Amino acid sequence: MSRFWSPLVHRLQPYTPGEQPRVEGMVKLNTNENPYGPSPKVRQALQALDSDELRLYPDPNATALKAALAQRFALTPEQVFVGNGSDEVLAHVFHALFQHERPLLMPDISYSFYPTYARLYGVEYRQVPLREDLRLAVEDYQEPAAAIILPNPNAPTGRAISRAEVAQLLEAHPDTLVVIDEAYIDFGGESAVGLIPHFDNLLVVQTFSKSWSLAGARVGFALAQAPLIDALERVKNSFNSYPLDRWAQAAALAALSDPAWFARCCELVVSERERVSAALGRLGFEVLPSAANFVFVRHALAARLLLQALRERRIYVRHFAGGRTEDWLRISIGRPAENDALLAALQAMVGSAPDRLETAR
Ligand SMILES: *Cc1c(COP(=O)(O)O)cnc(C)c1O
Repeated sequence: MSRFWSPLVHRLQPYTPGEQPRVEGMVKLNTNENPYGPSPKVRQALQALDSDELRLYPDPNATALKAALAQRFALTPEQVFVGNGSDEVLAHVFHALFQHERPLLMPDISYSFYPTYARLYGVEYRQVPLREDLRLAVEDYQEPAAAIILPNPNAPTGRAISRAEVAQLLEAHPDTLVVIDEAYIDFGGESAVGLIPHFDNLLVVQTFSKSWSLAGARVGFALAQAPLIDALERVKNSFNSYPLDRWAQAAALAALSDPAWFARCCELVVSERERVSAALGRLGFEVLPSAANFVFVRHALAARLLLQALRERRIYVRHFAGGRTEDWLRISIGRPAENDALLAALQAMVGSAPDRLETAR
């Protein structure tokens, strides 16, 4: 603390990102990165860049990238916004669209960055509890609200709602902005993007970090009818005119040019997810049905102890301590050999020392 702090800074509760450990031979299943690298076209595009061009600012409007995204989603470039990771896009959404008298609604178990942004931007919010089985029921969002934000599939549960359920929400609340955070949609969910021409109260956020394997490039985007995108552009151009550097724009554009690679990597992740889910089930884990590149699981043995025991074997997974998520672990889907290492470690723990683990709970 310092006397120079703005008053707001005292109230902030910064988001804690998943750990990025530097451990030789680790199995890293804690931040939902894609185990497969980006398309070889990304490497070619980056190698073709001339470092001398770094003298020059990048295109502030990422024109080529917006055009390619518009084409992919059958929208116009005026319906596309890009930012430095979807986290930045979401920050602008909170700033540009959520500061109203009526509150913002979000699930009680959801992306923990949302409450952080709400505090940063002074957005009033209420958390709507997921059902007992951690299912999100759209009919629970009845309270008058300026906006609703939901990840679909939800994080960290992995459970998805259907496009019809999103449409139901949009129809029931025409004066409420509905933001769907589709960070994991390409792993088996039904995207709401096709609804954009029919609903002026829908905004969809996606990212290149997960399904496109570009977490290190920091590229996210929003899709909506032009007036909503215009609000984001106004905030962005009052904040940072050049959020995407030359490398990021080139990488994302090259990734989009290879949809076959993208589809293949998503399929591999999905088939591993199904295999890992079944194997965890056989080890006595409760595994929520996942449409994402991770699974949310619990066991009679305490999550904290499993987390610690895995960490001793250099296997990293994520635990959201406290509240309704205390008993659960979120495990990202890795390559087959990484998943096998995880399963072997859990099998040894679950089979070998139940007494020690149980008593420490
Ligand atoms: C990972 C994630 C994001 C953020 O991704 P970026 O890397 O900032 O694009 C946004 N929402 C959810 C739910 C996520 O899990």
